[in-house]
Amino acid sequence: MLIGPSMSYPRTQRARIGPRGAPTTRPLVAGRQPAHAFRVAIVELGRSQCAICREVLSSGHDLFAATKLSLPPSDPLLAYLEAAMHWDCYASWRHRRRFARAAAEAYVPDPGKETTPYHASVWADDDVRVSVAPEWVRDDGTRSGGAACVALTEVGTFLEVDLRNWRRWVYTPPSWIARHPVEAEALARVQPRLADRFRSKAALLMGIDCVTFVQRCRAHDAAEKEKERYLEERRRQTWGRYVAEHNAELRGIHRRLLAEGFTCPRCHRPSHEPKLEEGSETKKSAVVCRRCGAQLDRGYFG
Ligand SMILES: [Zn+2]
Ligand SMILES: [Zn+2]
Repeated sequence: MLIGPSMSYPRTQRARIGPRGAPTTRPLVAGRQPAHAFRVAIVELGRSQCAICREVLSSGHDLFAATKLSLPPSDPLLAYLEAAMHWDCYASWRHRRRFARAAAEAYVPDPGKETTPYHASVWADDDVRVSVAPEWVRDDGTRSGGAACVALTEVGTFLEVDLRNWRRWVYTPPSWIARHPVEAEALARVQPRLADRFRSKAALLMGIDCVTFVQRCRAHDAAEKEKERYLEERRRQTWGRYVAEHNAELRGIHRRLLAEGFTCPRCHRPSHEPKLEEGSETKKSAVVCRRCGAQLDRGYFG
């Protein structure tokens, strides 16, 4: 769950904080997640501390966290990446401006330097950066996009706006959208400029360098497909090795049963000459009981 000022924390001990309206959220816990997902930070309420004042965070607190930072690896501010902070602590933090800029630049990079697939940067000035994710039908038929991402350089947050509501959004009172007064202030400064520059959804879409955008999306789709193919091949090989080993061992078991006799573990009746049903490269062989027809793999013969 994403935490905003108007929402209450979930009853569980964990809360995720991150950019509101992130298209997809990626918790920090392990697991397979789409590559294009924006991350969210996870805090353990009652255990994690505010990175600035060190107070233990609890469910009554409004929290901020940056989940991306555009900084060189040696920068000390990177220690605060994905760290939860009280909004109030963050708002008056002496490093806030530099930190916020680094976050905003990471959320919406300069045009031509995009790192998030399906997003195209269309605007960047000192106060605000905007990217657009037009509707995109991937090779597998799934759709993504239809949103604009507005990153506030002063605050280090971004807001996701449904493209269909863009016109309404730029005239929405900032206090209705913002999570903290500093965010409302920053938003109030940039909204009129955005309303003027991008009068409609079409104006936003016009800002996209279409040729580069389509090339980038296609390349990403192709890379994803290639990865999928590779994993499928790996799965096939692993299964193939397992089956080959199983079938070889079962052939040995079958020879032994022919020599020593066999009591079926299913029907518990002795059976002469159990049959070996040969599998294939992908299908496991089985010993078949001639009395009850049970198909037995090597697991039955310990
Ligand atoms: Zn604090
Ligand atoms: Zn049997």
